[in-house]
Amino acid sequence: VILAVDIGGTQFSLMLVREDGSVAEVRRYPTDRDGGAAWMVDQVVTRGRLLMDRAKGRVRACGVGFGGPVDFEGQRVIQSTHVPGWRNYPISRALSGALGVPVTTDNDANAGALGELMHGAGKGCRDLLYYTVSTGIGGGIIIDGRLHRGANGNAGEVGHVPVAVDGPPCACGNRGCLEALCSGPAIARRAVEALRRAPGRGKRLRKELRSGGPLTARQVFDCARQGDELATAVVKETALYLSMGVAAAINTLAPEAVVVGGGVAKAGRILFTPLRRFVSERLMPVHRGCVRIVPARLRNRSVLMGAAVLAVADRDFL
Ligand SMILES: [Zn+2]
Repeated sequence: VILAVDIGGTQFSLMLVREDGSVAEVRRYPTDRDGGAAWMVDQVVTRGRLLMDRAKGRVRACGVGFGGPVDFEGQRVIQSTHVPGWRNYPISRALSGALGVPVTTDNDANAGALGELMHGAGKGCRDLLYYTVSTGIGGGIIIDGRLHRGANGNAGEVGHVPVAVDGPPCACGNRGCLEALCSGPAIARRAVEALRRAPGRGKRLRKELRSGGPLTARQVFDCARQGDELATAVVKETALYLSMGVAAAINTLAPEAVVVGGGVAKAGRILFTPLRRFVSERLMPVHRGCVRIVPARLRNRSVLMGAAVLAVADRDFL
């Protein structure tokens, strides 16, 4: 049995996975950002021990998908943009010491890519691209059955491919990144701007905006599904920007599949249908028709399943 952990800025989860990939238990909890790294490590240890007791001592390894950049070689968190106290934190050593089993940590996007490769929509692929589109946009690249880490270990930042000249500023310091246009908050922001530019249009979307609270990407997709013309235009534009990033990646890497996970991918057909068309229009003829663009199959368990793969995989494979 393996203990899998997914540490995110809004929630964290723990799961027991059997060797055959079947799931024994999943627990989700909210993240206390103010508690920082110390609080999180304490939570993972306490709750991890409880789950390990339930597995009656059969847990032999632990894998962690962390929501932020990780130095895989050194098994340290580089930093977290949302939660304090993680800078250069030796996460695997700290958890391993407390849990008494070996621990392997990678960033959550790489873990998600591994999860989908081994147990999800990318099963059977040797070359795969994984996008996770939610509060931000991350990704993982699998080449010839292995994670591609790049010269400095930080390959796969597909959310920071620039897709618009003079586009909106991005958290990374650049402008016009895919993340600055197609993350959940960016989709909502573009919808609000579209409403402001066209006072007479988008009746349904405008009603959602007035109903209080900040507008979410989910509301934009829901309104588009119900036929709101402004929401539909925003969704189409989202698919167009996404297609520029995805097509650039396909033309560069020629994967068998592009798996799209994260909250935004739950939009389903209304996003995937135009996305596939726009990508196809932008591919070199040699790549056209050779690549599937599919939603993640493991949904909110991609990272956990990948963390379980990390826990027991041969280091050479990773
Ligand atoms: Zn960026």
